[in-house]
Amino acid sequence: MSINTKSSEVEIRESRLGSNNEFKGTARELCDKSTQNKFCGRKRSFTQCTECSSSRALSMLVMIRDSAIINHAPLGCSADFAEFNFTNRGEQIRRKLPLKNVNLLSTNLEEKDMIYGGGAKLEATIRNAYIRFKPKAIFVTTSCASSIIGDDVSGITDKLESELGIPVVYISCEGFKSKIWATGFDSAFHGIIRKIVKPPVKKEKKLVNVINFWGSDVFTDLFRRIGLKPNYIVPFTTIEQLEKISEAAATVEVCPTLGTYLAAALEQEYGVPEVKSPPPYGLKASDQFFRELGKVTHKEREVEILIKQERKRISEELEELRDKLKGKKVYVCAGAAHGHSLLGLMNDLGMNVVGAGIFHHDPHYDNGNKKCDVLKYVVDNYGDIKNFNVCNKQVFELVNTLNKLKPDVLIVRHGSLSAWGVNLGIPTLLIGDEQFGISYQGILNYGNKILDTLATKEFVSNIAAHSELPYTSWWMNQDPQTFLGREKIE
Ligand code: SF4
Repeated sequence: MSINTKSSEVEIRESRLGSNNEFKGTARELCDKSTQNKFCGRKRSFTQCTECSSSRALSMLVMIRDSAIINHAPLGCSADFAEFNFTNRGEQIRRKLPLKNVNLLSTNLEEKDMIYGGGAKLEATIRNAYIRFKPKAIFVTTSCASSIIGDDVSGITDKLESELGIPVVYISCEGFKSKIWATGFDSAFHGIIRKIVKPPVKKEKKLVNVINFWGSDVFTDLFRRIGLKPNYIVPFTTIEQLEKISEAAATVEVCPTLGTYLAAALEQEYGVPEVKSPPPYGLKASDQFFRELGKVTHKEREVEILIKQERKRISEELEELRDKLKGKKVYVCAGAAHGHSLLGLMNDLGMNVVGAGIFHHDPHYDNGNKKCDVLKYVVDNYGDIKNFNVCNKQVFELVNTLNKLKPDVLIVRHGSLSAWGVNLGIPTLLIGDEQFGISYQGILNYGNKILDTLATKEFVSNIAAHSELPYTSWWMNQDPQTFLGREKIE
């Protein structure tokens, strides 16, 4: 597989990786189908909600500290702007950075723009952003509306780039283009690799790119102990920092779904090796991750010491947690591949994984290396998982499934889902910080939080007793995947 950096637009996940978000079966069945390239979606004939690539692209771009972002779209596509700024301000406080709002504008496409075109408005907004924010780069994200009317966003950004003398980057991420919202991450990274990253001047032997969201800093200490330093990308970087990510000794990802495109592109274009391993969640994956990182950065000896020390440090507390959590039924609802990683972690805690609702599935990653296939790693190391559902957050399926499986605890990664577990009287744990579960300490973090969550059983049962679900027995008595169509094998 190779990344096409010549094209101004990213190739969507469906055609590039064969990704899909419709599957019912077991985890092993899904892995087998993926390996045999037989993973063909069973189209849902009904969907309740979804997310959009544009929002995922913005999530990677809006917190670059000295850039400006323009969403070339109607105002309705800006509904999540406030959420981005909320995250931005909260994380600035946590990082002790000066407090400022995101530099984020909308071109506010209206009815007349749909008829006469929105190009002039976009040009004016780019100039406005340049004067107002004095950015080092401007990113322009597209929308369904701008794409339907055929605005030449690529041509306009190229023209304004020459005029203003800073990168003005076209990010093609209109929502209707891909059913896999993670395509939006790729769109943002495609723009960064094409227009921002520069060829390396000198190599930084100790620097390791960490492609992440905006989680807590757990890598500085771990990497310091093996003589390395993390370079967290992309949120809260500067344009100058991004220009130099080609100089790093390696790239790691906290989630291959997030980082697959950028990591593969950095290796392909600039020879920065991508660490080919599942991310470090759970004991075995953490061992494997650090050993692979050690190989790439020639720190094998230091890594073995780290693994020995960390395993010893957590062993007693981990045994206690396992005693308390043994056999407790857990259901995981999260995005791929973070959700896959959590499945391994739950097994390490001795829990009984009764099922999973994972938001989409990538049968392959951009590097084409099976060592990064987290689901396969989990199945090979911990065994199969029944009730494995690939579902883009269709709440009607989730509520029906939970009602049938009745887990002791529900683990969710997206806030919009946590209320549903509670409404059913299931203690529910929402962890937004993906670094919370990283490495050896992350296993203890999760184990202790799950114990706290289990203690809420009476509280959530009371809430459930006073809640009315919007779904009637007509739906709750049916198969949760009733609306999945027949499988098409090509
Ligand atoms: S880009 Fe399309 S799918 Fe995304 S928010 Fe706007 S209208 Fe909705």
